[in-house]
Amino acid sequence: MLIIGVGNTAMDCCRSSLRLGGADIKVMARRPRSFFKASSWELEDAEEEGVEIIVNHAPTRFVIEDGRLVGMEFQRLEWDEQARHSTVIDTVVIPCDDVILAIGQENAFPWIERDLGLEVGDWDMPVVDPVTFQSSLPGVFFGGDSAMGPKNIIWAVEHGHQAAISIHNHCEGIPVSSRPPQGINLVSQKMGITEWSYHNDYNPSTRQRMQHVELTRRFQSIGTEVEVGFSAEQTAREVQRCLNCDIQTVFQAPLCIECDACIDICPVQCLTITENGDEADLRQRLSAPAKNLDQALYVSAALPQTGRVMVKDEDLCVHCGLCAERCPTAAWDMQKFELLIPLAVSTPVAVPS
Ligand code: SF4
Ligand code: SF4
Repeated sequence: MLIIGVGNTAMDCCRSSLRLGGADIKVMARRPRSFFKASSWELEDAEEEGVEIIVNHAPTRFVIEDGRLVGMEFQRLEWDEQARHSTVIDTVVIPCDDVILAIGQENAFPWIERDLGLEVGDWDMPVVDPVTFQSSLPGVFFGGDSAMGPKNIIWAVEHGHQAAISIHNHCEGIPVSSRPPQGINLVSQKMGITEWSYHNDYNPSTRQRMQHVELTRRFQSIGTEVEVGFSAEQTAREVQRCLNCDIQTVFQAPLCIECDACIDICPVQCLTITENGDEADLRQRLSAPAKNLDQALYVSAALPQTGRVMVKDEDLCVHCGLCAERCPTAAWDMQKFELLIPLAVSTPVAVPS
């Protein structure tokens, strides 16, 4: 059996097929492994169960003999480093008697009558305002995959929030473009000179490995759960790795005396005091190079002593609070962050982060 695709759905397909009696299951991927969408642990679990993952094979056609599927033809590909461009090496046929396509789903809107006044754009998708989620037909709203194409459930929920505000406005005769503001609250967690209202020990331990049911028992029933959860000890270790994502570092440049104590104590080297410069230049001059270009750097105002700046790579910070604990002038503080999300009718609601 062949599974086409290498997302997490493909992993569900191959592992479920094994449990339903499938044999010699191969997952076929167009691109190299580092470009797969599936989570690495899903791939490892599938391979542990005997699934073979074959890279750089692009499907071209089903091979049918006497009305029966006997194989699938693939082009073997060679990719450039970024896996953007490929060249075809040759063509191979891999025998199989079943193929599952796990390559995602497409939106389809044949039910939208085209004379409604609802504009349909690229990919035959309705044209949707990205702020109000209203289509070109007032009073008709879209969200989730049907609005902006495939993302994830978190985006779909946010679309629902925003569309609900628009629908409320529409029903009340308020312009849908009139949006209630979002807000944030930041509250210091300092309770004493070195005391904080949250547990801030830095814990460098790595992610705990989830216990799995033994291989021999996994295939007895498709309902057998493979991941059996953490032991009490693992749970304790895992929760101690918490990054305190709701507690933020907040810096006040005028208080900093450039003693370097925070730089020295930071366990992940995400702080640097340096001459200011453009971002590309700054990224090269930090205590640890900031390689994630999607994450903007924090760059403070000029420090009072030398005019240099405090730079923080938020991508590395584990929110341990050691910088604030060590700082003699309270230039660094640890503050609890609350996002105030406006709902359709009411005043903003604080959402615990
Ligand atoms: S809170 Fe962030 S910046 Fe401060 S010491 Fe910990 S890791 Fe470094
Ligand atoms: S510990 Fe405080 S005063 Fe010293 S360099 Fe860091 S922020 Fe500035």
